[in-house]
Amino acid sequence: MEVSSKPSSNFDPGNYTEVNDLITQIPSKVQIQDITMELHCPLCNDWFQDPLMLTCGHNFCQACIQNFWKRQVKEIFCPECKMMCQYSNCTFNLVLEKLVEKIKKLPLLKSHPQCPEHGENLKLFSKPDGKLICFQCKDVRLSMGQSKEFLQLSDAVHFFMEELTIYQGQLEATLKELQSLKNMQQDAIAAYKVRSRVEGL
Ligand SMILES: [Zn+2]
Ligand SMILES: [Zn+2]
Ligand SMILES: [Zn+2]
Repeated sequence: MEVSSKPSSNFDPGNYTEVNDLITQIPSKVQIQDITMELHCPLCNDWFQDPLMLTCGHNFCQACIQNFWKRQVKEIFCPECKMMCQYSNCTFNLVLEKLVEKIKKLPLLKSHPQCPEHGENLKLFSKPDGKLICFQCKDVRLSMGQSKEFLQLSDAVHFFMEELTIYQGQLEATLKELQSLKNMQQDAIAAYKVRSRVEGL
């Protein structure tokens, strides 16, 4: 693939098709993360919103760079490379905006697992089901008069951590028992060896 000599955050139409190629090839998670990084504003670390491109080629959300410049007294410069900029020379980066829209829709980037039935975020843990469910699942179960044992995710984590601690304690006790059994067995074997040597004489 052709390597562009321009900074990677500078999306010209050439780079645009290059990134599109990556998407059709089903990029790896690392590649997705790389692309995602490029589509995040260095000031707010979130997806670009109304990205403005400065004369140096760096991009920022319009609101972010305006806020940043409000705090400057006289000269305005790029927060990334410190190059002097004029607001009138900044342009909206429509290509970048479209890219952000496209990439955000990729299923790989959905950070929260979704309910296969309702498409909502899985935010509850159902104890009787032993799995994560969404709020709609909960309503369905409640309307059917089923068990009301739902846990918020953080509570579920807490609950299982406690269970784990109990299991760990039980395991450690069992391990100790096994260890002492093994010692007893070794003693018995040693005693047997001594006895058979004595008897053999
Ligand atoms: Zn921003
Ligand atoms: Zn810059
Ligand atoms: Zn559901």
